[in-house]
Amino acid sequence: MKEFDYIIVGQGIAGTVLAFQLRLKGKHVFVIDKNRDFTSSKIAPGTYNPMVLKRFTPCWKVEDQLTPLYDFLDAFETSFNTSIHVPLKLWRRFASIQEQNLWLEKSDHHRLVPFMKPSFISNPHKDINADFGFGEVKKSGWVDFLKLISIFKHRLISEGCFLDEEFDYNSMLIGKNTISYKSISAQKIVFCEGHRLTNNPFFNYLPLMRTKGELITVKLEGLNVQELIKSNITLLPLGDDVYKVGATFNWDDKDEICSVKAREELLAKLKELVNKNPVVINQYAGLRPTVKDRRALLGAHPNHDNIIVFNGLGTRGLLISPYLAIQLIEFMEKGVALDPEVDIKRYKNDMPC
Ligand SMILES: Cc1cc2nc3c(=O)[nH]c(=O)nc-3n(C[C@H](O)[C@H](O)[C@H](O)COP(=O)(O)OP(=O)(O)OC[C@H]3O[C@@H](n4cnc5c(N)ncnc54)[C@H](O)[C@@H]3O)c2cc1C
Repeated sequence: MKEFDYIIVGQGIAGTVLAFQLRLKGKHVFVIDKNRDFTSSKIAPGTYNPMVLKRFTPCWKVEDQLTPLYDFLDAFETSFNTSIHVPLKLWRRFASIQEQNLWLEKSDHHRLVPFMKPSFISNPHKDINADFGFGEVKKSGWVDFLKLISIFKHRLISEGCFLDEEFDYNSMLIGKNTISYKSISAQKIVFCEGHRLTNNPFFNYLPLMRTKGELITVKLEGLNVQELIKSNITLLPLGDDVYKVGATFNWDDKDEICSVKAREELLAKLKELVNKNPVVINQYAGLRPTVKDRRALLGAHPNHDNIIVFNGLGTRGLLISPYLAIQLIEFMEKGVALDPEVDIKRYKNDMPC
């Protein structure tokens, strides 16, 4: 039996951030992840920004989240001598004078001063339609999720701490102070399974809704946009005239199949924004692990305190995962209480008897 401190099931952004932070604290971690080409973390553009851009409000507890995010990215880049983080200017396109006025009004708000430039930017791009200009959001950027996940996985493989398989719940033995799985044992197991939590017999009572999202990558020859542009879609420049465009929100379909309807919706919105003919290179679909009350799902199983969940990252997995991983580690290592807003105790009455 190989002994570890933690077994982590699932290596999307949640499992990667948690495993990395635990290893920084000297913990021995074993990761089990079934390789899939398309998961929420692998298809997401990986952008972050501190605001809800529909209403110009700050994101939930964003002031507490940016430092853990930057610390995590710095530590990861240093550990692996790599570059995964690209800070970018985010330009929110205004649709009307009313939106410009709202921007000015909000940029005076004490919580938004650090994030909003109080002036307007007139449109410098001849092939972008933005008659009312843009507002600039500071502290935004994107992270190459695919590279992050792949680099970390290869390190784990090289150290014999990784297994590529679907976790078999029937092969798990639960002891008072240990969890065993085949030839591995650990003090605790943490499930970071994204939308597949719905298959997990220990946590499938939690209200994970799953929201389908689709994206396309397109070539827009000669557009020459360097900023991350947000209108009713996001345009993320990837270099060489290639852009990621997304995303759709679909609360009905629970599959990960690319649809013609979503592609047409994205192309129609792109046409409103850009005066160029896009060549579609690729299309992706994924299920966001969203929760009824829009808060993450963290904590121990009500009957087994060594079986833990880290899920429900929703639409902003990147921004919130380092902050929540720190909280979860404090909870697992020192018994520090979780924020009640994310603690799964709030759903204890939903657990079947
Ligand atoms: C279209 C779209 C665009 C998005 N854009 C952004 C964005 O720009 N910025 C942002 O921050 N967030 C974005 N998100 C949200 C973000 O992608 C999610 O919050 C995040 O990826 C969830 O990560 P996760 O690790 O919880 O789950 P996942 O990414 O689903 O990872 C779970 C992993 O666990 C594995 N797994 C699951 N169950 C098992 C099991 N039983 N055994 C073994 N392995 C298992 C899966 O194969 C997978 O590798 C977007 C999501 C979508 C769908």
